Amino acid sequence: MKDFDYIIIGGGCAGLSLAYELEIHKKLENKTLAIIEPRLEYKKDKTWSFWKVTNHNFDDCVKRSWKNFSINLPSKTKHLKCDNYPYQSIDSGLFYKKINNKLKENKNINFFKNIEEVNQNNSFIFNSVPSIKTENNNLWQHFCGVEIKTKENIFDNEIINLMDFDCEQRNSVHFFYTLPFEKNRALVETTWLSKINDNSLKDYDNQIANYIKNNLKIKNYEIVYKEEGAIPLFYPINIKEKNKINIGTAGGMTRLSTGYTFLNIQEHSKNIRMNIENIQNAKNFEIKKKYQILDKIFLKVLEKHPEKMPDIFLKMFNGPTNSIVKFLSNKSNFFEDFSTILKMPKLVFIKALFGK
Ligand SMILES: Cc1cc2nc3c(=O)[nH]c(=O)nc-3n(C[C@H](O)[C@H](O)[C@H](O)COP(=O)(O)OP(=O)(O)OC[C@H]3O[C@@H](n4cnc5c(N)ncnc54)[C@H](O)[C@@H]3O)c2cc1C
Repeated sequence: MKDFDYIIIGGGCAGLSLAYELEIHKKLENKTLAIIEPRLEYKKDKTWSFWKVTNHNFDDCVKRSWKNFSINLPSKTKHLKCDNYPYQSIDSGLFYKKINNKLKENKNINFFKNIEEVNQNNSFIFNSVPSIKTENNNLWQHFCGVEIKTKENIFDNEIINLMDFDCEQRNSVHFFYTLPFEKNRALVETTWLSKINDNSLKDYDNQIANYIKNNLKIKNYEIVYKEEGAIPLFYPINIKEKNKINIGTAGGMTRLSTGYTFLNIQEHSKNIRMNIENIQNAKNFEIKKKYQILDKIFLKVLEKHPEKMPDIFLKMFNGPTNSIVKFLSNKSNFFEDFSTILKMPKLVFIKALFGK
């Protein structure tokens, strides 16, 4: 069995982002890296979207970006503009291709299907395979999206619909999310915030078909791509070990109130690259404690009062859009935190804070 300086377990978003970051900064010229990835081929399987609050390595994989977005309740619609931070969508197919083409150039980087094929004893390990118990009571963001193509130009491709709550709630939190890539092409996603073991919410195909017909009023369309997934809205088990760092979802890079993970993964990769020469002693990288605490309270309210959430989400966006976007992307300052918190219904949040 071969020895490697570094091992990355899982060649998905976090594993490949880290390998790429190390490679382009020439940290793998004299070091060896094994990437353990069981998938047989890389193909588009996700659309990663986020407000671009920091630079990242993948601008050339951006499918589209927008400055306008809307939020809908059955009774009202809010239109918002965010000039400073565009909302970007990354095509995972382009991302995988770009990274794999780059990594191929370096003979020090090798892919393996199984961890048993390499000796782990003398390596530093970056692990992106989370340790999660699925049968417990935690909340998840679970969703299914289809990219549809229509004959006519029906979408306004200058504006995304971030959350449309004009749909069945079934005692949970449910919204649709529409990203119009072109005037005749859009990703339409049904999204639930709920416990994962509730199969009654997973008739995704019906939900999407009804929404396209009754809300978007589209009769003729073709489904050109489909994605499905679940993001844990809790931190996976993360035991501190001397020669191992968890990355990606496994490393707690998901913002629990939103599910946004992609940009946090990029920041973690940069942090590891900057500390790689002394990685054993590097300070733990995590989402700032203030967001961890606020998100925990937010999720307590969500669990207790799912029926209040559409209104709470809408109210959150009553303040200056740039500030809310920064808050949701972990980049807000004290004043922006304060102004966002002030928009929340105080009594419900105070009760959640004290566990009532
Ligand atoms: C469909 C979908 C859409 C998402 N959209 C967004 C979004 O719009 N914005 C956002 O910020 N976040 C989004 N997320 C959340 C998050 O960004 C992604 O889940 C992201 O892929 C997390 O990266 P990761 O490396 O932790 O996990 P993954 O990308 O899932 O990578 C883990 C890798 O480990 C491999 N693996 C599995 N088992 C083993 C094993 N035993 N040994 C070795 N390797 C193994 C897998 O094949 C996979 O390649 C989305 C998640 C999903 C599922």
